[in-house]
Amino acid sequence: MSLGLAFNLLATDGAARRGRLSTAHGEVETPAFMPVGTVGTVKGMHPQSVKETGAHILLGNTYHLMLRPGAERVAQLGGLHKFMNWSGPILTDSGGFQVMSLAGLRKLDESGVTFRSHIDGSKHHLTPERSMQIQHLLDSNITMAFDECTPYPATHEQAAASMRLSMRWARRSKDAFVARAGYGLFGIVQGSTFEDLRAESAAALRDVGFDGYAIGGLAVGEGQEEMFRTLDFTTPMLPMERPRYLMGVGRPDDIIGAVRRGVDMFDCVMPTRSGRTGQAFVRRGVVNIKNARHAHDERPLDDRCRCPACAGYSRAYLHHLFKAGEMLGPMLLTWHNLTFYQDVMAALRQGIEAGRFEETAAAWEAEMRQGDIEATVDPLKPAPH
Ligand SMILES: [Zn+2]
Repeated sequence: MSLGLAFNLLATDGAARRGRLSTAHGEVETPAFMPVGTVGTVKGMHPQSVKETGAHILLGNTYHLMLRPGAERVAQLGGLHKFMNWSGPILTDSGGFQVMSLAGLRKLDESGVTFRSHIDGSKHHLTPERSMQIQHLLDSNITMAFDECTPYPATHEQAAASMRLSMRWARRSKDAFVARAGYGLFGIVQGSTFEDLRAESAAALRDVGFDGYAIGGLAVGEGQEEMFRTLDFTTPMLPMERPRYLMGVGRPDDIIGAVRRGVDMFDCVMPTRSGRTGQAFVRRGVVNIKNARHAHDERPLDDRCRCPACAGYSRAYLHHLFKAGEMLGPMLLTWHNLTFYQDVMAALRQGIEAGRFEETAAAWEAEMRQGDIEATVDPLKPAPH
């Protein structure tokens, strides 16, 4: 295997792409969804169960892992794959986004970001060079360049200054990254929702040369329509032969719309975080299992789902678990949501391979819009008269 990551484009249908990314820890079939394993665990899930949902690759968070247990500690214990017992590929973010959203007393300058830990208040300085070193210590297969996620909304002037800083950091990230076979570095296109800035950013990154190209600074409050509009002009600016990753996206309909526009990879806390709060993504939209209407409902969450929550349990039981505050409830809904997301990705991949992407995507979108089918009346309640 040569240095970097091999990416084979297997089929295209319109702008949608079916690909295969090869890493030192296995292959990733794209379009792919990456469950988020923030602190070295996908919350509430055994790694084997995550694998059974159909996930090929996980995301780990540099910010969390550098603070606890520390990148040097993870390296001493054999790297993140061994530490968390996940043998497949891992992508890590650069830490920049979470510093800006979680840490205290942040100070950003040309060198990087100084901040205080949200855990113990300790002071840290994160630079492109240190971010590359941390991701190397974690043994991440896909390292993300250190950048500033431009807040939204931003003026053209603010977005330009922020993007140009990220482009200088992207160059420093590339210089500090240690190239190895089966490991790669992704650059991140910024520029908010401005076409000229996205073009400038994409050109700067192509000039440096990366193993993959991420689209950052979206899903930050701009809304789906504006996100799709930005993708419409941004994805054609990226090299055809390299994977494209839309960071932090999203709901199932966001993902389908982005695959339609030529994106290959996604990550989001949506399926795991929603699962923990009682929200399930099903073929006919979204179900809040805590609603009283599920208390007597003998049906599974989704009668076409292959996950253990749907195969073995009724909505009434899942409702009961959440009402009683039992930990099995969040575990089962997380399992279901991750399975649902992977089933969407598998269907999209098959659709592209068969040259039927649009029919496949439109069928899923139409069914999600229909909404859940209400249960029949509660047999224990007297009929109204
Ligand atoms: Zn299920």
